[in-house]
Amino acid sequence: MKRLFSSVLLCCLLCIPAQASNSPLAFSLHKLGDGKGGNTILVIGGIQGDEPGGFHAASLLITHYTIENGNLWIVPNLNFLSIVNRSRGENGDLNRKFAVITATDPDLEVIQRIKSIIVNPQVDMVLNLHDGSGFYREQYQDDMHGPHRWGQSVIIDQEKIDAAKFPELSKIGHAVVSTVNESQDKKTAYTLKNTKTREGDEEMAKSLTYFAINEGKPAFGIEASKSLNKAQRVCSHLRVIEAFMRYAGIRFQRSFSLDVASVERALSDNRQIAFYDNRVYLEMENIRNRVNYFPVSRKRALDFATWNPLITVVPSDEKLDVFHGNEKITTLLPQYFDVDEEERQPKVRFLVDGKVVEANMGQVVRAEKQVTVLPLAGYRVNFIGFSQRGVRDEAGITIREADFVRSYSLNTQGNSFRVEFYRDDAKTGREKFAGMINVNFAGDSGAQVMAAMLPSSEIIREVSIPERKK
Ligand SMILES: [Zn+2]
Repeated sequence: MKRLFSSVLLCCLLCIPAQASNSPLAFSLHKLGDGKGGNTILVIGGIQGDEPGGFHAASLLITHYTIENGNLWIVPNLNFLSIVNRSRGENGDLNRKFAVITATDPDLEVIQRIKSIIVNPQVDMVLNLHDGSGFYREQYQDDMHGPHRWGQSVIIDQEKIDAAKFPELSKIGHAVVSTVNESQDKKTAYTLKNTKTREGDEEMAKSLTYFAINEGKPAFGIEASKSLNKAQRVCSHLRVIEAFMRYAGIRFQRSFSLDVASVERALSDNRQIAFYDNRVYLEMENIRNRVNYFPVSRKRALDFATWNPLITVVPSDEKLDVFHGNEKITTLLPQYFDVDEEERQPKVRFLVDGKVVEANMGQVVRAEKQVTVLPLAGYRVNFIGFSQRGVRDEAGITIREADFVRSYSLNTQGNSFRVEFYRDDAKTGREKFAGMINVNFAGDSGAQVMAAMLPSSEIIREVSIPERKK
C-alpha cells in the first residue's frame, strides 16, 4: 500500500485535471485477469444511481471473484454522484447522453471516459446492468408482467451487428437466457427483449448499448426486477453475468455460493476504510452513525483506501459522509491536526491481559479484560473515551473496558475504542497526529493483533478538506 500510495499521490499532484480519477465520486475501472489472451467482457454498473442490484453485482465481481482465463473489466460505479444521492441521475439520465451531449453538461467527462473504455480494442463484449420495473414478458399478463416492463430481461438493440467477435446478439442472448433459466424459478425467469432501436426507438438510440453496437461492440442490457429485494437482484444479475462469461470462455472462481443468503453476507463482509496511508483504519460494519473528533489534516487533502469500490467519503459542510453505494454508513466530524508524514512509523507495544503484543498504526488489538500501552519515547498516547485527571499521556495506564465512556466507542456494540498517538515536533513545538490503533474488547478470544489490511484491489481516493466555517 505504501508504495502505491506515494506514486499515486505524486502523480495526482503533477498532472491530474479537475475531475481527477481519484476524486471521491469518479468512477473506477477494475481489470481482472492477466490480460494475456482470451476474451474480455466489460461490465458496467451504476449508470443510474437508484438501481442498486446492478452496481452491487458489479462490485461483488471485483471483491469476490478471481478470473482464471480471459478477462473481466468492471466499472461498478459509473454514475457515482447519483449513487450516493440515491437518484436516477443527478444531472439527468446518463443513459440518454451517448448520442449527443452538450459541452457544458456536467456528465461530459464521465461520458467521454466510459466511451473510450467501451471502444478499447481489447473489449469484446459489453454488459450494462440495470434494475427495471416489473417483469418483462412477451405477452401482456397483468400490469407488472408484460411487454411494457423491463425486469428480468436481457436486452438487445437488434438481431445482429457487424463485429469480428460475437456478432449474433439474438443467438447469444437466447443461449444465455436459457442457461440462466435452468437455475431461476418461473417467477424470476429471464426473457430476451429486442428493442429494435434502429427501427425508430428514439430513446434507446441515445443509450450506452446502442453507442457500443455502432462502434462494433456486442452489447447487452441486463435488467433485474425492482420487485425483488437487493440481494435477490444481485443474485439474478450474477447468474446472467456468469452465463455470459461461460459463453465467452472466461473461467472464474467465486468465493461464496450463489444463493440469496450468501449474497447478502458477501455484500457486507468487505466494508473497511483506511486513511492517511493506513495510519487510521475504520471497520464500517456496525460503526456508529457519527464519529466525533475524527483526525483530519489541516494542511492537505485526505487520502483514503478501500477495498470496496462502492465505499467513498464525501465532504458536506464541515463533515465527511461515508457511503456504501446508496447507504450513508457514518459521518465523521473532523478535528484538525498536523499529520505526521514520517515514512517510518513507530511499533507500539501493548500489554494485553498480561501478554506483550506489538502493533502498527491502523491495526486492531483484541483484548479480553485490559490493555496498557507501554511508554513510547517521543509520542503522547490518548485513549478516546477515557480520561484520568491531570494525566496528559496515557501510556503506562492499565485500562479496562468498563473504564471507557461507552458512547465513545467506534461500534454500536460499544466495545471497540480508539487509541491515538501524537508525535512531539521539536521544531514547531506543536504535536502531530501520528496514527490510531483500535482496541476491541471482543470477549474471550485473548490477546491478538489483527491486521487491518485486506488483500487485493484497493482503491485510493482523495477528498478535499471540508471547509471550516469561521
Ligand atoms: Zn436502468
